[in-house]
Amino acid sequence: MPVESRYTYGVAGERFFREIKDHARLLGTRCAACTVTFVPARAFCERCFAELTEWVEVSPHGVVHAVTVVPHGDGHRVIAFVQLDGADGGLVHELEVPPADARIGMRVEAVFKPAEERSGSMRDILHFRPESQAK
Ligand SMILES: [Zn+2]
Repeated sequence: MPVESRYTYGVAGERFFREIKDHARLLGTRCAACTVTFVPARAFCERCFAELTEWVEVSPHGVVHAVTVVPHGDGHRVIAFVQLDGADGGLVHELEVPPADARIGMRVEAVFKPAEERSGSMRDILHFRPESQAK
């Protein structure tokens, strides 16, 4: 499943993916009028259509809001919609857990590829995994 096909590149998308590539950071854009933070970043507010110029860094941690298990090769992959902390949107991405362990409401974090392997796409995030207990 080509996860990245859900996202269109545009002015906002370019900056969003460049930030992932260069700094392994997730950016959103914020509409102060609607008090909404969009992730992935978008150029216009989908509620009031204002142009969005306020960029905010969004946590790579979030909560699983939906999961689906899709056949993949000999096994299955878990695909999740993760709402990121501090954002009103989120990302659809692979979740690295056995299908039976996938739960709505579980805390997860994004795992980025090493810098030298990142190319500026949604695939620069390897997957989400359950939040580490280490902190
Ligand atoms: Zn708005």
